[in-house]
Amino acid sequence: MLNTLIAKSLPIVPKPIVKAVASRYIAGEDIPAAVASVRSLNAIRAKATIDVLGEFVSSRTQAQEETAMSHRVVEAIHEHKLDSGLSVKLTSLGLDIEDEFCYNNVFGIIKRAKEIGRFVRLDMENSPYTTKTIDIYKRLRADGLDNTGVVIQSYMRRSEDDVRDLVKMNASFRLCKGIYKEHESIAFQGYEEVRNNYKKLLPIMMEAGCYVGIATHDDELIDFARHYIAKHSIATNKYEFQMLLGVRESKRDELIREGHAMRIYVPFGHDWYGYSVRRLKENPDMAGHVVKAMFGIGQ
Ligand SMILES: Cc1cc2nc3c(=O)[nH]c(=O)nc-3n(C[C@H](O)[C@H](O)[C@H](O)COP(=O)(O)OP(=O)(O)OC[C@H]3O[C@@H](n4cnc5c(N)ncnc54)[C@H](O)[C@@H]3O)c2cc1C
Repeated sequence: MLNTLIAKSLPIVPKPIVKAVASRYIAGEDIPAAVASVRSLNAIRAKATIDVLGEFVSSRTQAQEETAMSHRVVEAIHEHKLDSGLSVKLTSLGLDIEDEFCYNNVFGIIKRAKEIGRFVRLDMENSPYTTKTIDIYKRLRADGLDNTGVVIQSYMRRSEDDVRDLVKMNASFRLCKGIYKEHESIAFQGYEEVRNNYKKLLPIMMEAGCYVGIATHDDELIDFARHYIAKHSIATNKYEFQMLLGVRESKRDELIREGHAMRIYVPFGHDWYGYSVRRLKENPDMAGHVVKAMFGIGQ
């Protein structure tokens, strides 16, 4: 009840409070902060994927700046020999401006990442971009870039068709539930429905021999994946678990101890607000954290 109230009133919570509470989910505002965060993850045998915060860019100049920033991240990964890839949102690289412009931007980033042996994941955004994102993924692969992968959201009703299509080209997947608000005509709304679709899609990907990033903090789905992997002797080079920075760290450590590969999504940048609000809305302990921060306790 209190969580729901606080989630609804987050837009009026002062930004410094949101920043204080959300700081665990964000590496910081610049590349050195992201590098430091990835270093400490690599030290506990977790891989990373760095995300430059920012989406829905509306000018060419902004998209070019975002593209240049992604190039700087790739160079930092190389220079500091980080066990990390990059995650990119196509809208921040110009998908809303012009398809060809966006394609050239993302192609350049992934080509450079390939030269230094790193992987670039195309994050999946909301439904107006699903088909475009998948099409760009296919085109990148056709153009010889195999160091890239796509994301499937289990809340989308279309996802089974997408997966059955994409396994034919041995796609590299990240499977998650999906974070955006979508209409019930195109997306499952119930918690169990979304879970059940996740449990349906993961075996299709794994049976086809595709690489899967199992992106979830949900115990039931983690256990489902663990059992499936053990029962079907899925090789360790065919999957990894993925979690967000600052979320369920003890579960993260448990999976690493069991010998599973683990990759942490490490967001950084000036545009931290929207991302932080989304994470706080998912956090069941949010009310307590926000109230503590409001009263200056424990921050
Ligand atoms: C690596 C990674 C990449 C992602 N990429 C995308 C993407 O490209 N597109 C997209 O739409 N979505 C993406 N997501 C978000 C995803 O779709 C879900 O919204 C998010 O992971 C929450 O779903 P869940 O499976 O963890 O289950 P939930 O049911 O939300 O969470 C399960 C449990 O985990 C804990 N938990 C979850 N979130 C938090 C939190 N913020 N703070 C504290 N505890 C928490 C709680 O105990 C909760 O009960 C990504 C998620 C991950 C982990």
